[in-house]
Amino acid sequence: MEQFDAIIIGAGPAGMMAAIRAAERNRRVLLVERNDTPGKKLLISGKGRCNLTNSCDIEDFLGKFSESRAFLRNVFAKFFNTELMLFFEDARLKLKTERGGRVFPISDRAGDVLNVLKSKLKTKNIKVLSGVRAREVIVKDKKIRGILTYSRKQILATRVAVATGGISYPGTGSTGDGYRIAEKSGHRIIPLKPALCPILIKERFIRDWQGISLKNVRITVFAGGKRMDERFGEMLFTHFGLSGPVALDISAPVHDALQLKNEVTISINFKPALDHKKLDARLLREFKANPGKSIKNIFKNLLPRGIIRRFLEYCSMEGNKSTSQITAGERKRLIRGLFDLRLTAEAVMPAKDGIVTRGGVNTKEINPRTMESRLVKGLFFAGEVIDIDAATGGYNMQAAFSTGWVCGDNI
Ligand SMILES: Cc1cc2nc3c(=O)[nH]c(=O)nc-3n(C[C@H](O)[C@H](O)[C@H](O)COP(=O)(O)OP(=O)(O)OC[C@H]3O[C@@H](n4cnc5c(N)ncnc54)[C@H](O)[C@@H]3O)c2cc1C
Repeated sequence: MEQFDAIIIGAGPAGMMAAIRAAERNRRVLLVERNDTPGKKLLISGKGRCNLTNSCDIEDFLGKFSESRAFLRNVFAKFFNTELMLFFEDARLKLKTERGGRVFPISDRAGDVLNVLKSKLKTKNIKVLSGVRAREVIVKDKKIRGILTYSRKQILATRVAVATGGISYPGTGSTGDGYRIAEKSGHRIIPLKPALCPILIKERFIRDWQGISLKNVRITVFAGGKRMDERFGEMLFTHFGLSGPVALDISAPVHDALQLKNEVTISINFKPALDHKKLDARLLREFKANPGKSIKNIFKNLLPRGIIRRFLEYCSMEGNKSTSQITAGERKRLIRGLFDLRLTAEAVMPAKDGIVTRGGVNTKEINPRTMESRLVKGLFFAGEVIDIDAATGGYNMQAAFSTGWVCGDNI
């Protein structure tokens, strides 16, 4: 039987990077993937464009993670965004940086990112065993001996890395196997919770806003009347509620507050760049310039068309009312609606519908300088299976690549 120095379970960004780095160190590597082909989730990432990292500095970067910042500081000290960008650029993949420091391939094709990784697997003679699902790791005397597959086949090696991802988008292969494998070998799993998930909203009128996206809005989360979180950026209305970057980014605190049985409301500020005085002056200017015009027509300059009718209803305003009839009190109501349209959060979609999984293998049980388990010699972890998760913007993918690289550098 062929001998391997290391087996890596899972050919996502973390597993592929671990395999490539290990092979660069002349390790004979076997990469085991349950799907027919590697990188299924990577292909759909960033709406098929793959936002592979973010160009911001280390402090801002770490600030985007919900937990485990000290752990990640060690990891990023070895392999961070500059190293990742160089890795791809050296392989002639041209990259571009968009708004908010988001880094994409210039081609806007996630497939091009995957092709670089696949071609490195090939040139470095890494054996990829596709269509094989690992069931458990074989541990004897707290040391790794190999893996057992679901078809009851044993494959021996003294080093094994678990890079099986989380539980989000299970259709891509990440069904939580890594948590079961880790638990069985004695690791503690921090409870799994949804992150970067769409939010269900109680008010039914927003169904009419389905498909409308807003740029440059501020949303604030209140739980039990107290302000909890605030984000600025882009969001999207769906048939059941809110999605898009800022809504996804607040979904974790919304979920936690709902679990505590708090009433959670979300305030949308459509005009965060203006203060009360400036917005009032703007309305007055519009009214003066358009005497006798209906308020619904004036609002075409202030909000997307599809929103206006329901927005005016929310403000208890008759859409056909002429601008010259609007009272100071009514103007106040409109301003309030533009600054603070209140929605009630009913639920957060389940973890399987999220972009990443919160929770996972406890970082305290992993050495951040090597990714080796502190409990079982020869067992390593990389990627989303670890208890790390961040906001949208390329941070999660970088964490997968970085933990993968450090794992491969030590396995
Ligand atoms: C829709 C969507 C869009 C996203 N967009 C972005 C983005 O633009 N930027 C960003 O930073 N992050 C994005 N993410 C998150 C990012 O894709 C993940 O954080 C990243 O893929 C995690 O990498 P990973 O290698 O740890 O896990 P995965 O990519 O999930 O890979 C795990 C691999 O392990 C395999 N596997 C699982 N169990 C077994 C087993 N028992 N045996 C063998 N193989 C197994 C799976 O089939 C899979 O191929 C997105 C996620 C989703 C769902």
